[in-house]
Amino acid sequence: MVTVRNYDIPALRKLDVAHHLPAQSSYKLQQDMGGSRIITHAKGSTVYDGEGHAILDGMAGLWCVNVGYGRKELVDVAARQMEELPFYNTFFRTATPPPIELAAKVASLLGGNLNHVFFNNSGSESNDTVFRLVRTYWALKGEPKRTIFISRHNAYHGSTVASASLGGMDFMHVQGGLPIPGIEHVMQPYWFGDGFNEDPVAFGERAAAAIEERILAVGPENVAAFIGEPVQGAGGVIIPPPGYWQKVEAICRKYGILLVSDEVICGFGRLGEWFGFQHFGIKPDIVSMAKGLSSGYLPISATGVSSEIVEVLRASGEEFVHGYTYSGHPVAAAVALRNIQIMEDEHLVERTREDTGPYLAKVLAERLGDHPLVGEVRSLGLIGAVEIVAEKGTNRRHGTGGQAGPIVRDACIARGLMVRAIRDAIVMSPPLVITHAEIDQLVGTIADALDASAEQLA
Ligand code: PLP
Repeated sequence: MVTVRNYDIPALRKLDVAHHLPAQSSYKLQQDMGGSRIITHAKGSTVYDGEGHAILDGMAGLWCVNVGYGRKELVDVAARQMEELPFYNTFFRTATPPPIELAAKVASLLGGNLNHVFFNNSGSESNDTVFRLVRTYWALKGEPKRTIFISRHNAYHGSTVASASLGGMDFMHVQGGLPIPGIEHVMQPYWFGDGFNEDPVAFGERAAAAIEERILAVGPENVAAFIGEPVQGAGGVIIPPPGYWQKVEAICRKYGILLVSDEVICGFGRLGEWFGFQHFGIKPDIVSMAKGLSSGYLPISATGVSSEIVEVLRASGEEFVHGYTYSGHPVAAAVALRNIQIMEDEHLVERTREDTGPYLAKVLAERLGDHPLVGEVRSLGLIGAVEIVAEKGTNRRHGTGGQAGPIVRDACIARGLMVRAIRDAIVMSPPLVITHAEIDQLVGTIADALDASAEQLA
């Protein structure tokens, strides 16, 4: 491992409070804590904080470090590309080699007619690209009334104005006067929370039917696209019931509506296929990707687009007047290409599907299935959730106002495990290189943290 610099952690934490505004944070809490927890280095699936604690990273950074930490190959490829060409734009009929090669590679992984790739820097930006591309497509195709997007409550599509509007998180809409017009939110396929006493398949059908009802309510001729995450990540790892996605796809086809798969979390192996839509057996027209594309080593995102859509833009002769200075950044693209190669060389997608994913499901069921505080464990590939309830066999919550998750999460962190709390659930999304022993540790720590939190939750 690289020699870690000798940081003055107390001084850094003071500077953090004095000057640094971290993302999606309460600045009061940051101040009350005397500054953020500072992570200094990492290797494999473990991160280390400034106090020298080793923490098993059950979240792969932020659902992104799929190949794990400390990959010298990615450092080398970045350094080489920086020496050769650190930057050139793709605005004025120029390009550099890495984004071209990466676009071809990503298109081959997407398969079908998803032959084209537009690059951005983040998942949010990719969904902003989707927003403008879809409306531009319909306008150029001669159906300019088709402007409405249908999304789901509690979806997460990013933090920019358009992507947070596409998302269905009310607490995000409150800030900044969102959503922007032209976005309709319908029910999510959250069986544990909203369907519990219903047959899961019937519930999934009801959730899909809500999309059709809304299409009919606003007029199919006005609807441009439906956007959804194959498995809702930030919403609480919501795995839709069987049949849901097939029904959604059929509804989109019936009304000629574009289907957008937001694969920012699910893409690049998380569900045991390269993409979540491949797991669910559907064919989207547009795909948003980020995170695992570069395993988070550099910021880069991609928007996969079908040939049919690109043909309409080509035939129009119009410019798509959209792009970012760093669209197709050569260093980020070179790192992403090498990252994909690592995933292929180490069979990380197959390993997730056939080995570590099923192992995580087994250990979650064995260790936590009967736990008195656990209402449900669910996982798919290497993403999972543990629902914390007040009464076993029900979905009744503790009277903590959604604080059961944070209480148990803090107990996990105190025991050397980083997981995330989403309301009354603990969610996990570890690096795809996680070992069986680390999965045992991950689940065992959640079990210990639940036991230790029982009194606080009562
Ligand atoms: N879409 C999904 C499904 C996400 O989970 C995220 C981030 O977590 C985004 C979009 C936004 O990506 P970014 O934070 O890179 O802007």
